[in-house]
Amino acid sequence: MSTPCPCGLGDPYEHCCGPFHEGRKKPPTAEALMRSRYSAFAVGDEDYLLATWHPTTRPASLELDPEQRWNRLEVLGRTGGTLFQTTGTVEFRAHCRVRGGRDVLHENSRFVREDGVWLYVSPV
Ligand SMILES: [Zn+2]
Repeated sequence: MSTPCPCGLGDPYEHCCGPFHEGRKKPPTAEALMRSRYSAFAVGDEDYLLATWHPTTRPASLELDPEQRWNRLEVLGRTGGTLFQTTGTVEFRAHCRVRGGRDVLHENSRFVREDGVWLYVSPV
């Protein structure tokens, strides 16, 4: 019945990143935000991606490639990003398939917390 969340933590989507996408909860840590953004790519939630992007670096719009199938996320490392901090980084590898090929996005992302809300800024 319930699908595992694309972010790979193992919980069903509706108990993991789903509540973040629906705006019912805010990700408590930079890593939780990063995972929820990966899941948003996987489920095609462009509004969530834009809403969690820092206004200074946010693109005007976003067009996700519907052919891109995100199938695995690896979190490689993190600095800061806890409930008690206002900055953090998360390094990850996101694997996808696109038009029969494979692609990997490897990024060390920078996050800030403003008014208690984590936002994605840019690659480090
Ligand atoms: Zn999740």
